[in-house]
Amino acid sequence: MLHSGQQHRSFIVRSQWLLPVSCRPLENAWLRVERGLVTGFGTWPPHSQNTLQVIDLGNTVITAGFVNAHTHLEFSSCQKPFSTAGGLHKWIRDVVSWKREQSTSCTDSNQNNAAIVAGIHESAACGVVALGEIATTNTSYHKILNRPRIRVFREFLGLHSPTSQDGLAREATCLRDAQRLSRSGMAVGLSPHAPYSTQWNIGQTVVIASKTNSRGRRWQRKKNRRLTPVAMHLAESQLEAEFLKTQTGHFRTLFEDLGVWPDQTPNLASTADWISFLAKSDRGLIIHGTFLHDDHIALSRLTLHRQKLIAVVCPRTTLALSGKLPPVSEFKKAGIRVCLGTDGRGSNPDLSIRAEAACLIDSGLATPQEALSMISVNGAWALGFENRTGCIATGRPADFVILRPSVSPNTADEATATIFDCTTKVVATFRGGRPIAGDFL
Ligand SMILES: [Zn+2]
Repeated sequence: MLHSGQQHRSFIVRSQWLLPVSCRPLENAWLRVERGLVTGFGTWPPHSQNTLQVIDLGNTVITAGFVNAHTHLEFSSCQKPFSTAGGLHKWIRDVVSWKREQSTSCTDSNQNNAAIVAGIHESAACGVVALGEIATTNTSYHKILNRPRIRVFREFLGLHSPTSQDGLAREATCLRDAQRLSRSGMAVGLSPHAPYSTQWNIGQTVVIASKTNSRGRRWQRKKNRRLTPVAMHLAESQLEAEFLKTQTGHFRTLFEDLGVWPDQTPNLASTADWISFLAKSDRGLIIHGTFLHDDHIALSRLTLHRQKLIAVVCPRTTLALSGKLPPVSEFKKAGIRVCLGTDGRGSNPDLSIRAEAACLIDSGLATPQEALSMISVNGAWALGFENRTGCIATGRPADFVILRPSVSPNTADEATATIFDCTTKVVATFRGGRPIAGDFL
């Protein structure tokens, strides 16, 4: 039996279906793992088994480990999401109240760490091998064992001028956290929160910081140059565009009530301008983009820069907060890459990326094949992990998930569809040849 935390082992698994994503599905397949890497796969039997242990899994589907490109794991202790009935601005009010209550507790940082650890383990149990995490505190992600790969996006936000005492202190803390994460070996990204909560000037700081981090290793190892993606929530609410133009309405009332509206009028930029800004980074993640199809300038800029940008949609959160699904059809029509995130448990009942994909499939916005690409190869690209994870291929790290369907699939299409069936169980999740969740014989 392989248990989480074991050292690298070499073995061959036999499975009814293997969906490598890098090539066509295989029936009655084998997959060889040696020293953490995939060293071969094909239709049973393998040419040579050497002395490797062979594990026959029977009726299972093996595919690339999943990528959840957008989470807020600090909310993983929430038993249920905050109410989404009043829309984004009301939801933010509840979230900020909850965070302020938490921060008055002396065990805040322990609670925060425990929630993040719980979220990481829940994700691995859902078949996830890579996460895009938005961090608002200085958490030691590198100390968490048996975890998926994580791109930690340190969040920046604030309506106070960055030249004010408050603004300068806040920015310095965020930059210091990002540097600490980077020094600890974590893959780092940066995240100006959203256009309604972030001064435009903070964007300039983020661009400079992202370029500085990227340049750090440019001269040392050109091939593995450190990538610093930038992620931002954009076009989440119908009220957002109006607020950005007039600085009035529900968002203004919200910020005044929370005591964060500054004395000086904040310098806020449009969605389209933030998209151009993201395109200057190494790689930009547009999170949600729910109302982008209403903003032709913003959508055309996203289309123009689609080689460097990706839309990260969170269907269940979007449905709950906006009563509609993300404009995936428009993104696909414009040739824009799409990947998926669960967002956090503050707006979603769980961290199941498969359930997120099933929501798109059930509503006809994606085929099972498209959904599989979104939660594997596309998600890996979004996080800058495309050389490490996102597909099963010889010579690459053995990042894969083993699933057991309730009904045996007869065709490749059925095997793909069964990944998103809620009766299909995750047997085990492997990162680099090691199990990070589940056990199997
Ligand atoms: Zn989010």
